[in-house]
Amino acid sequence: MREGLNIAGQEIGPGESSIVDISVSRLPSGTRINIKAHVYCSERPGPTLLLLGGVHGDEINGIEIVRRAIDYGALSHLQRGNVIAISLLNVYGFINFNRDVPDGKDVNRSFPGTATGSLASRVAATLTKTILPHVDFAIDFHTGGASRYNYPQIRYSKTDEGARELAKVFAAPYVIQKTVIPKSFRKTANEMQVPVIVYEGGESERLCGYSIESGYDGILRVLHHLQMRDSAPAPKHRSIHATKTGWVRASDAGLFTWTRQSGIMINKGEPLGVINSPQGDRTKKIISKRSGHIIGHNNASVVHHGDALFHIAYDHEYLD
Ligand SMILES: [Zn+2]
Repeated sequence: MREGLNIAGQEIGPGESSIVDISVSRLPSGTRINIKAHVYCSERPGPTLLLLGGVHGDEINGIEIVRRAIDYGALSHLQRGNVIAISLLNVYGFINFNRDVPDGKDVNRSFPGTATGSLASRVAATLTKTILPHVDFAIDFHTGGASRYNYPQIRYSKTDEGARELAKVFAAPYVIQKTVIPKSFRKTANEMQVPVIVYEGGESERLCGYSIESGYDGILRVLHHLQMRDSAPAPKHRSIHATKTGWVRASDAGLFTWTRQSGIMINKGEPLGVINSPQGDRTKKIISKRSGHIIGHNNASVVHHGDALFHIAYDHEYLD
């Protein structure tokens, strides 16, 4: 339990809010790059929640979700505790329409990071050293990578006590139990005893209204659960929970057209899409080998052998 916060040397007292600029480095042009953290402290002690977007610079739905939470006033007038909202962590990737920092390294594979390491490592270290020590719970907002669309879903780790409860409260359409990725934000946060849920919604470089609304409503429900807000929208559906997922991959190369997409249940033997050769001499139907829910699909029009086409959750059940 804390009253007020001190972030990067800036004091934010009880009942105050402020934008803290955390300096990371300069661009080669000389422009200084800062990470902006919106910090909201209530009058009453309570937990500190971190809302994090844009760890991957081209995953703009997450940036927009956290931006809305700031812009719509959802974080002002908290009933207790504090919120730190960072809508865009990887500024470098964002300005280059890229997932990574300019040297090609992935920030989410560079945690905990060091202040003297590669650029990705420095960005990670900024979060690990300056923000995470203040945090009790975190939500990390992502989208599918490249052209892969993720139906709104929360991912959490079995070993992360507290994350399952947050996942349940967030009430995204799908809740997926996933092993923690080495050197990810989630891994470092877990080691610091901070429960983390990862939200995935939509695809990179494209805003998806449904994913944004699902993510925004989830934030409100988590704030309500942590007694920081007195109300939140009720979930529109029951969450479907799964612990086993797998990819249906391209069994040929060519032009890909899906006929089934994310968010629906499919049966074993059902056609999901087709890959046609560009010359019109070959057609390959993509058939589901198992029954399950499509939690993600590929919007790429041209695919190679082995490309991930459909992400299927198999052992689905309702999460109540
Ligand atoms: Zn991501």
